Amino acid sequence: MEASSAEGTLENLVVVGSGPAGYTAALYAARANLNPLLITGYQDGGIPGGQLMTTTHVENFPGFPDGILGPELMDRMRSQAVRWGTRLIEADATAIDLSKRPYLVQVDDVDIACQSLIIATGASANRLGIADEEKYWSHGISACAICDGATPQFRNEQLAVVGGGDSACEEAVYLTKYGSHVHLIVRRGSLRASKAMADRVLANPQITVHWNRSLGSLSGSDWLEQLTLLDAAGEPAETLAVRGIFYAIGHTPNTRLLKDQLPLDGKGYLITTAGSPATAKEGVFAAGDVADAQWRQAITAAASGCQAALAAERWLSENDLAITTARQPVDPVAAEQPIKTLEVTEADFDQDALWQGGSYALRRLYHESKKPLLVIYTSPDCGPCHVFKPQLRRILNELAGAAQGVEINMNEDNQIASQAGVTGTPTLQLFLNKELKQQWRGVQQRSSVKAAIEALL
Ligand code: NAP
Repeated sequence: MEASSAEGTLENLVVVGSGPAGYTAALYAARANLNPLLITGYQDGGIPGGQLMTTTHVENFPGFPDGILGPELMDRMRSQAVRWGTRLIEADATAIDLSKRPYLVQVDDVDIACQSLIIATGASANRLGIADEEKYWSHGISACAICDGATPQFRNEQLAVVGGGDSACEEAVYLTKYGSHVHLIVRRGSLRASKAMADRVLANPQITVHWNRSLGSLSGSDWLEQLTLLDAAGEPAETLAVRGIFYAIGHTPNTRLLKDQLPLDGKGYLITTAGSPATAKEGVFAAGDVADAQWRQAITAAASGCQAALAAERWLSENDLAITTARQPVDPVAAEQPIKTLEVTEADFDQDALWQGGSYALRRLYHESKKPLLVIYTSPDCGPCHVFKPQLRRILNELAGAAQGVEINMNEDNQIASQAGVTGTPTLQLFLNKELKQQWRGVQQRSSVKAAIEALL
């Protein structure tokens, strides 16, 4: 669902960011009848939904005793915010101007004016950028041991953590609960972590610290199986048979758009008034990891989103700025459920359907359709697929039948995926008359996919 803010309209509150902080802030603001507008983000600073979209099981979010998949949790938060009236713009904010009020947020070359603003743009976990990192991301590499450590693939296997700070030490100790042994890979000859944390690591017989080592190469099949460590001179030193490697090399807060407008700390995090979500600008509040270098949990982000919304509501009302909306009916209709793709067989295949699932549909459309054909390879746990699929459906709806789409679940149709040379999800292929015209890996901007299809019409 997407709703736009008409140019010239003055918004009560714009929330930038769609992780737990952003959606919680929007939920509270919507229930306060503030009619909030939320800019989800698209590619800048990670995908919509934030870091939980690239994790598997979340077992420490209260209320889900059996755990919940990160992308599913985010789907639910989004549905809840939308159910209460949050309007979403599924695009990146490209500029924010806090020089005067009303503040301006630029999205798709349109300036959105707002009385108040909640910055919930999160922080992106740093990556090393080594070869095959993309291939093994979520297939052995994770940025969050606390979120992913208990994943079945990691149980009783050798695991590794890269980094020497408190996070790396905490994660190494945490992972000893699940792995058979944990290797801590530290690029210097000492740890940056606090003494207490470092002592805990050094005293733990289940952890081996590899000093002055960096990560060289990764190898395996679909899942990571082995890595090579390099010594300080960059020469291969040893090989470790690990099934999981956890990056704990710091995060970069997504504050680029606020540089020189709001005070940032030495690491780029937004500085807020102690004990409050208020920033240095009136009516501008921060929530979640963008202003939190320390806790960085989904639950703390959600809590700070709640605080930011309550603070924004109070500020708008104290300054007599809020234009509240009356809720009709009083209770909203039930939340929207994610649409499932139907896997079709010969019996229910539809030559003209815009979107179908499965290898039968793919074979038929590939051979018989004269229209551009989008084929997306997905897997059930793939958060970016959750984000990308509705965007593709929207493109096909907008093209009103001029193009068609098929979804292939790699778990179900592994053979087709391997014949097509697909190694990860989401992978998108665009065909015309049996000819592969373009292929994309990962979530893409909707406009670029649409333009590629339109070029074939
Ligand atoms: P951090 O303190 O910034 O540490 C990052 C670590 O990653 C450092 O050891 C750094 O090495 C290493 N690193 C950075 N880039 C690297 C690269 N390219 N290759 C290999 N290693 C690399 O980050 P953090 O551990 O996430 O902690 C962030 C903040 O949260 C800190 O203030 C920390 O105290 C706090 N925290 C507290 C707790 C707790 O109290 N329970 C738990 C977690 C985090 P160098 O040391 O060589 O720079």
